[in-house]
Amino acid sequence: MYYENNVQALQDIDFCVTQGEFVSIVGPSGCGKSTLIRIIAGLIDNYVGDVRVAEMTKTDEQPLALVFQEANLLPWRKTLDNVRLPLELAEVCENVQKEKSLAALDIVRLKDFAHAYPRELSGGMKMRVSLARALVTKPQLMLLDEPFSALDEITRQQLNEDLLRLWQQDQWTALFVTHNISEAVFLSSRIIVMSDRPGRIIADVAIPFSYPRT
Ligand code: ADP
Ligand code: ADP
Repeated sequence: MYYENNVQALQDIDFCVTQGEFVSIVGPSGCGKSTLIRIIAGLIDNYVGDVRVAEMTKTDEQPLALVFQEANLLPWRKTLDNVRLPLELAEVCENVQKEKSLAALDIVRLKDFAHAYPRELSGGMKMRVSLARALVTKPQLMLLDEPFSALDEITRQQLNEDLLRLWQQDQWTALFVTHNISEAVFLSSRIIVMSDRPGRIIADVAIPFSYPRT
């Protein structure tokens, strides 16, 4: 895949992820991790190749959801109204929007903050709202692009544990971009390693679980 300035971001990328896998993608800054995530998300279309994500039929469920490094909450909307946004866009009826959003806030332990504004929340809490907004659509595939890297080490570890707990509950498929190897080892059942110029996959390894999973 080439950007308009003729930078070749990716070359010969070929991999397949099984439903329910937690896959981390690691590699140096600039190796094309975000580009890969954006291609899978459908945000870039001038690439040569083929991306397939399982389709879902229900209108209030999405095949995939994205979580970025910034929580990207709308500051003028309360927590609950941020979480229900994707359901609103999918024209789900309002009672259901509310019910599902409260349930999503509950699983990230923020039900009590449903009526708070983003400015009232800590960085970690905002990120948990962002996770809830992604999970509310019941995605089959979660694309997470360095989601916690702006947070301090302790908050980050807490959120990694939250993420793993949520994944264990619902078993969506995760593609998690990070340049933190220990984080990748902690979270993943598989790690894809990329190198740069242009971005290629140089290793693809299964990880024995370092964390008790049920
Ligand atoms: P990573 O996420 O691994 O840091 P990126 O996917 O962001 O890598 O970038 C891969 C390569 O593509 C880098 O060389 C970067 O400079 C380049 N790149 C990223 N976005 C653009 C863009 N919009 N236009 C031109 N080049 C870009
Ligand atoms: P996180 O680990 O999500 O970053 P913090 O360590 O910032 O959370 O906050 C710990 C707890 O303190 C939160 O779960 C919340 O109950 C409370 N808290 C944090 N910020 C606020 C706030 N602005 N208003 C009310 N309670 C807060």
